[in-house]
Amino acid sequence: MAQFDLVILGGGSGGYACALRASQLGKSVALIEADKLGGTCLHRGCIPTKALLHAGEVADSTRHAADFGVNAQFNSIDMPGVNAYKDGVVSKLHKGLQGLVKSRNVTYVEGHGRLVSPNTVEVNGEKYTGTNVVLATGSYPRTLPGLEIDGKQIITSEHAIAMDRVPKSVIVLGGGVIGCEFASVWKSFGSEVTIIEGLPHLIALEDESSSKQLERAYRKRGINFELGVRFASATKSSSGVTVTLEDGKSFTADVLLVAVGRGPVSANLGYEEQGIAMERGYVLVDDKCRTNIPGIWAVGDLIPTLQLAHVGFAEGILVAEEIGGLNPRPINYDGVPRVTYSDPEVASVGLTTAKAKELGHDVVELSYDLAGNGKAQILKTAGSVKLIAAKNGPVLGIHMVGARVGELLAEAQLIFNWEAEASDVAALIHAHPTLSEAVGEAHLALAGKPLHAHG
Ligand SMILES: Cc1cc2nc3c(=O)[nH]c(=O)nc-3n(C[C@H](O)[C@H](O)[C@H](O)COP(=O)(O)OP(=O)(O)OC[C@H]3O[C@@H](n4cnc5c(N)ncnc54)[C@H](O)[C@@H]3O)c2cc1C
Repeated sequence: MAQFDLVILGGGSGGYACALRASQLGKSVALIEADKLGGTCLHRGCIPTKALLHAGEVADSTRHAADFGVNAQFNSIDMPGVNAYKDGVVSKLHKGLQGLVKSRNVTYVEGHGRLVSPNTVEVNGEKYTGTNVVLATGSYPRTLPGLEIDGKQIITSEHAIAMDRVPKSVIVLGGGVIGCEFASVWKSFGSEVTIIEGLPHLIALEDESSSKQLERAYRKRGINFELGVRFASATKSSSGVTVTLEDGKSFTADVLLVAVGRGPVSANLGYEEQGIAMERGYVLVDDKCRTNIPGIWAVGDLIPTLQLAHVGFAEGILVAEEIGGLNPRPINYDGVPRVTYSDPEVASVGLTTAKAKELGHDVVELSYDLAGNGKAQILKTAGSVKLIAAKNGPVLGIHMVGARVGELLAEAQLIFNWEAEASDVAALIHAHPTLSEAVGEAHLALAGKPLHAHG
């Protein structure tokens, strides 16, 4: 029986971040992974989708080259070529990560693990015992009752990422982040796209103003969507999939992507048997990611926090540092940056207007239109930077729409997490001409001294 300070089950963002930080702190670590080191984010999530989105951006740039005085002609998407590019990126990062884990002396165990006692995970008949066990088994794509995934006509993001052709038409069931990103990719690749969303808006967790701007932009791009109406049924035929909605409307397309959320991977892994408190399959934890069983921790998509890779990293690091005796501060989940990497991008940190009001804040708001930003005009992008602040107090939320605004979150999250006031940020000089000036201008305007702002 092998004995370690930490035995980590699952080598995705949460698990491997915990392993790397714990080994840095001098702990002995076993990291158990059934599939590929790097998990969903590296192999089936963040990285491959962003490569597809970038390929889509190149296609759109080629289509619109004449707008910039460049003679170029868009011919078609070469899916094997796109996949070779995407897989090349993933493979390079995978090799790098494998090297990193090796160099930190983490014991990497390949195989399917199961919790057989509060401090032991069994893999391929071998037992790995840890003073601490960290559960990081991640999540899987959900479907709806009666909607069977066949991997060909009715697919999830896992199949969508590996497609070898561009479908002529697609229905995307679910207008959340994953659904909107694939809708954006496929539209750029030339498919006809329809999104079905039961809630009143696309990316409904974002500030309503951001959702509305994304909807306007999608309408302009010719991406169709039906909002506030629920899915009723889907039937397959040789000509495609027909989706019927509860209002009686129906749509037919080559492919139906089911993007209705992700559920925790926690069944049949011994979690219940060991008495771990769970709800709807999620493992419940306190603000230091401790479960109710001493010595067992859980991180990442397995726990009911934001399902984002960087949240998994932060939770993995938090657990390693808590075990290492560093007494780290709990994570402020409002301060987590969030991006939808569609065209246009939507990025935010902090509270939405609705949430700030619900919490009783007396709020002031300001929206800075990217029409006034030189770089946005150069890029021919539309959008805005919206600020929500407490009256005579700190900035409570920053919500941005437009090309490349995800990169502006680096500054936005410092503003929110350091509880800056508009006047603090207004005093900082932003390089001209950059999109980041829009963040500066918004704060100048909120501080009462607008520069390039009308009205
Ligand atoms: C299409 C898509 C796009 C996304 N884009 C983004 C993005 O742009 N930015 C972002 O921040 N997040 C994004 N995400 C979310 C992100 O991928 C997840 O939040 C992140 O991967 C969660 O990390 P995790 O470690 O909790 O789980 P995972 O990455 O799912 O890792 C869990 C690992 O545990 C392994 N495992 C499970 N059970 C066992 C077992 N019994 N024994 C051994 N190993 C086991 C699995 O094989 C897996 O490798 C995206 C997700 C998807 C699906």
